[in-house]
Amino acid sequence: MTDEIQQHLAEVRDQIAAATAKAGRAADAVTLVAVSKTHGAERVRPALQAGQCVFGENRVQEAKAKWPELKAEFPGRELHLIGPLQTNKVREAVALFDVIESVDRPSLAEALAKEMGKQNRHPVCFVQINTGTEPQKAGVLPDEADAFIEDCLERWKLPVTGLMCIPPVGVDPAPHFKLLGEIAARHGLAHLSMGMSDDFEIAIAMGATHVRVGTAIFGKRDYPASGH
Ligand SMILES: *Cc1c(COP(=O)(O)O)cnc(C)c1O
Repeated sequence: MTDEIQQHLAEVRDQIAAATAKAGRAADAVTLVAVSKTHGAERVRPALQAGQCVFGENRVQEAKAKWPELKAEFPGRELHLIGPLQTNKVREAVALFDVIESVDRPSLAEALAKEMGKQNRHPVCFVQINTGTEPQKAGVLPDEADAFIEDCLERWKLPVTGLMCIPPVGVDPAPHFKLLGEIAARHGLAHLSMGMSDDFEIAIAMGATHVRVGTAIFGKRDYPASGH
């Protein structure tokens, strides 16, 4: 199992390196966020041992059960929240995560700003955009994105440095990646978290700085996780 996860991780890293080179981008332009949701610490450890630095989880409770111990064992690793964040979990999220990729509404932005002040801990924030305008999906609607991003930066002074999207299933993701890049450019945001196991190479060609890859590293999940 250890060998398998480490081998898959090496393959994904090779694919990222190849896609990055093909796009004429710098070798360190893309960060791999290894999505470890639903996988226990015993499956995450081999990836940590192989030197993987950045991980993604989509549920605060699950991350809280798994990561304090792993972080103590492997200091300096970076944890991203990639799933919807309920306002009543903001305190735990600010304490645990280094990057919160799913900022998607004013009440959450305001609660995050307040909590960051209280804890004097300032995880980097990405704004999640619902590029496909899907009713069941989290994220700010494209029409509302500019005003919301501006409020995050100016009104709540959140450390927003990028955007995240999850394109609809079964469609060409390219227009969604393009739209995310256009919105980020309007606000001078440097980071684009886009691309998952099935489409990270396309995302890299279109400017992704963070790709969130779960299945291709850890294998199929035993139960579906919320958020995707
Ligand atoms: C689960 C998840 C991923 C990883 O998806 P895979 O297809 O397993 O690579 C990426 N982003 C988000 C937001 C997710 O919830």
